[in-house]
Amino acid sequence: MENKKTAAAKEFGGDDKTAKKTRRPQKRKVCEFCEKGVAMIDYKDVSRLRKYVTEKGKIVSARTSGCCAHHQRQLTVAIKRARNMALLPFKGE
Ligand SMILES: [Zn+2]
Repeated sequence: MENKKTAAAKEFGGDDKTAKKTRRPQKRKVCEFCEKGVAMIDYKDVSRLRKYVTEKGKIVSARTSGCCAHHQRQLTVAIKRARNMALLPFKGE
């Protein structure tokens, strides 16, 4: 039983978990701020900033949010300012 499994896995060049997975090219996320032509992210725009903060209060990474480096940098500053103004939590609710 086990021998058959490993033999099949070797054929695919990996263990049977990875053999069955087919990697599809992911659709590239587009920066929301670039799309809307936002020049400067406002820390007072809490409703927008909330989308980029996790339930625990952490800032969502650029990889997840799809933001470009330029706007991700602005976003982190805006979120940190909003935290200091008590508009966003430092720690999750
Ligand atoms: Zn952008």
